[in-house]
Amino acid sequence: MPGPTAPPAPQHQRMRRNSGATGKPEQRFRGTPVSPGVAIGSVFGNHEPPTEVVHRTIAPAEARAERERLRVAIAGSIKQLNKLRARLSILPEDSQSEIAPLLEAYQRMLGPSRLVRGAERRIAQDHLAAETAMHDEAEAVAAAIVGAGDGKSLSADDRASMARRAEEVREIARRVVRNLTRAPFRSFAGLPEGAVLVCEWLRPSDAALLDPTRLAGVATDEGGGEGHTAVMLRALGMPAVLGADGLSHAIAEGEEVVVDGSAGVVILNPTPQTTAEARQAVAAFARERQRYARTRRLPAETTDGEKIELQANLGLPIELPLIAQSGARGVGLLRTEFLFMNREEVPDEDTQVEAMDGDTVTIRVLDWGGEKDIEALQAAGIVPEIADTNPALGARGIRLLLRQPGLFEQQLAAILRAAADGPVRVLLPMITNVAEVRTAREIYERVARRMRRAHERLPDRLPPLGVMIETPGAALSADALALEADFFAIGTNDLTAYTLAVDRSKADLAGLYDPLHPAVLRLIQFATEAALRLRKPVSVCGEMAANPRLTPLLIGLGLRSFSMNASAVPRVKQRVRAVSVEHCARLARRVMEQSDGAAIRALLDSAEDAPA
Ligand code: PEP
Ligand code: MG
Repeated sequence: MPGPTAPPAPQHQRMRRNSGATGKPEQRFRGTPVSPGVAIGSVFGNHEPPTEVVHRTIAPAEARAERERLRVAIAGSIKQLNKLRARLSILPEDSQSEIAPLLEAYQRMLGPSRLVRGAERRIAQDHLAAETAMHDEAEAVAAAIVGAGDGKSLSADDRASMARRAEEVREIARRVVRNLTRAPFRSFAGLPEGAVLVCEWLRPSDAALLDPTRLAGVATDEGGGEGHTAVMLRALGMPAVLGADGLSHAIAEGEEVVVDGSAGVVILNPTPQTTAEARQAVAAFARERQRYARTRRLPAETTDGEKIELQANLGLPIELPLIAQSGARGVGLLRTEFLFMNREEVPDEDTQVEAMDGDTVTIRVLDWGGEKDIEALQAAGIVPEIADTNPALGARGIRLLLRQPGLFEQQLAAILRAAADGPVRVLLPMITNVAEVRTAREIYERVARRMRRAHERLPDRLPPLGVMIETPGAALSADALALEADFFAIGTNDLTAYTLAVDRSKADLAGLYDPLHPAVLRLIQFATEAALRLRKPVSVCGEMAANPRLTPLLIGLGLRSFSMNASAVPRVKQRVRAVSVEHCARLARRVMEQSDGAAIRALLDSAEDAPA
C-alpha cells in the first residue's frame, strides 16, 4: 500500500500484471483521501436513476392545477430536506455546521425564490408542465449564475464557487422534478454487508443515508476533500476516496476492491499480494483504533480520583452499536423525536417501548416543533401543520406536548413500561417555567395511577422526572426549577442560540454562535450551582459535552456528568483522566473572570499545554 507521502501518479494506471481472484488485472486509481482507514470489499455500484424531463405543454385551463402540483412537490421536497436535517444531529457539531448551510440554501431556493417564481411564470405564461417549467427555469438560473462571471477577471476559486452554486440550483430542481414525476430517489437499501460503494458521485444527502455498520468504504469518480459529502463520510467514519476519475466505468458488480482512505488510492481486482498488504493496513488501522478504544475499560476518573459520568446521546437506532463500543455508561439523552421523524406513521406504543429497551436511559419526550418537523404526527392528524413565522420562539417541545395530552400520555406510558425492564429517567424539553413542570408531573402521575389500576408492572418508585435547561428562562429559574424537577440536563446547543439570539444553522451568523460567551457560561454556572445546592443530579448533554477542550472548564464549574455523541466518549475520557479537579476549579475561576469568548478560548488553549 502506498503511504500518504507516495508521489502522485497519473489519475489511473495499470500497476501490476498478475491477476486477482477474478482473473482481471489489478488497476489502481488515485483520488482525494477524504476519510482515513482501509476497506476491502466487493463493489456495490450505485448509479442514480436518471431523471428524464420530457418537454411537455399543457392546455391554458390546466395551468392552475399544474401550479398546485408544483406547490405540492415543493412542499414534499422541503419535508425531505427537514428529515435530512434531523438526521444530521447524529454527526459531530463541526460536521453539522458544514452541512446545515447547504440544506438551508436548498430550502431557501424552495421559498419565494427566483427559481420558484420563474417556474410558476413558465406554467402560467408559457403553458409548460410543472416538471418542464422547473427544469427550464433551473437551467436559466444556473446559466445566469455562471454567466455573471463572463468577461470579468475572477479567481479560479470564485469561478468554482459560481459553478457550485449553479449546481446547487440544478440539484434542488432535480429533487422537485423527482417528486413531480414520482421518479425513485437513489436507494441504498439493498446494500450487501461489507460492500464498498462505488459510483460516479455522491451528494451529501445521499451520504446521510449510508449505514456505516453495513458499508466498508466509499469511492467515487467525482468530489473533493472539502465538500459536504467528504465531511459526512468522515463523520460516519467510513474509509473513503473521492475524485478517482474513471473508476465507476471500470468496475463490475461484485469485483474485489480496496479503498485506502488515508492514501487516496482505490485498487480494483487487487492481486493476492496487494490484498495481503491491504489486510495488514486494515489491521494496523484497527490497532490504532484499539489503542484509543482501550480507554473504554478505564475508569472516567480525574488524576485526583473524582469519578465523572460519561454517557451517550442517542438519536437513531444506527448509533446503538457505536454506543456499546465507545465505553459510554448509559444514555444521557435519547431524542425520541427521531423515532418518529423518518416514519410515515406514528410508531405504536410497543415499538416505542422496544426502542427504549436496554441500559440506563434518559428518555426525552418529544421535542418537536421549530425546526424539528414531524411528518408522521401531521399525517396522522395528531398535530396541525405549524406555520410559525418564528418557529424557534413558537410552539415547540413541552409547549406542544401540553397541548396534545393524548400523545404525551402515550409516550409517558411507553416510558413507564420500559422502566419495568431497566432504569430510565424522563426528560422534559424546552422548559421555560415551573408551571410546565408541575403540569407535566400531574399528567405523569395520572398515567402511572391508571397503569397501576390496570395491574401493569411498574417500578415502586416512579422514574425521575427532569428538565432540560436549554433556555435562558430555565437557567435563570434554576433555583425554583430545582425544587420541582428531579434532575437537570443542560442543553448547551439551544441555550447558546437563545441566549445570544443566534440561529446556529445560519452560516453568516456562525461567528456569533459562541458557547464560550461569558453569558452562556454564567447561565451554565448558575444552573449547575442551583442543582448542586439541592443535591439534584445535573449533566450537560449539548455539544459542549463532546469537546474535550472544554471538559476541564465544565468540571471546574462543578459538573460531573456529560452526555455526548458516542464517538466523542474516548477523547473526552482521555481528557478527564489527564486533569485534576483542583486544576479544573482554578481554570474555571479564571475563565469566569473574562469578559469575552476570545479571551476564554486563549485561556483554555494555554491550559491545554500547562500541567493539569
Ligand atoms: C440542546 O439544545 O443542547 C440539546 C441537547 O437538545 P437538541 O440538540 O436536541 O435541541
Ligand atoms: Mg435543545
